Amino acid sequence: MRRTGTGPIEHRRAWSWMAAHAFTIVSAECRDQAPVRRVPGVSRTPQALSCPCCLRRFRMRGHCLCGAIAFEVDGPAQACVVCHCESCRRQCSAPMTTYIGVLDGQWRWLGRPPKAFNSSPGVERTFCDHCGSPLSFRSKKMSNVMHFFTAAMAEPEKFAPTLHVAFEEKLPWVKLADGLPTRFGPDYTKG
Ligand SMILES: [Zn+2]
Ligand SMILES: [Zn+2]
Repeated sequence: MRRTGTGPIEHRRAWSWMAAHAFTIVSAECRDQAPVRRVPGVSRTPQALSCPCCLRRFRMRGHCLCGAIAFEVDGPAQACVVCHCESCRRQCSAPMTTYIGVLDGQWRWLGRPPKAFNSSPGVERTFCDHCGSPLSFRSKKMSNVMHFFTAAMAEPEKFAPTLHVAFEEKLPWVKLADGLPTRFGPDYTKG
């Protein structure tokens, strides 16, 4: 496990690191123009790499399992991380989850909003009240950023995480070999 520092210099480094390692997003209209690579033995489908056009802007929808709750997100996303914290784990009933961060004003619920509950003071988590799908969480510590679970996006394959957070809470039987950096605690913007 690699832990990063917690001082203000480290905070700035974290933000600049995230900015410098913007993750892969390619919208449909730019897919043909984006550089691609093939993953040997995994897929015959070309995997899109960073498209400068789409890193600046994209629009994508997401929805719950039953489709009753849908949302729309405009780019650019601020981050795409894998979270190992117990709260995300329990909300999603999964050993870990991946989410994207989107600034307020760049996302919206389509139709009626989901149910919300506070998993801890200042932390709001949402879910579909019909099928139970987890959809998002937000923290007052990052008050202008909404986090949508990547798996709820219409095209989750377009979002590749760049960082593991709350890595100290990772379940011991989860074995990872993705080479991504890890961070102590759930907040990818702070130590
Ligand atoms: Zn639903
Ligand atoms: Zn979490």
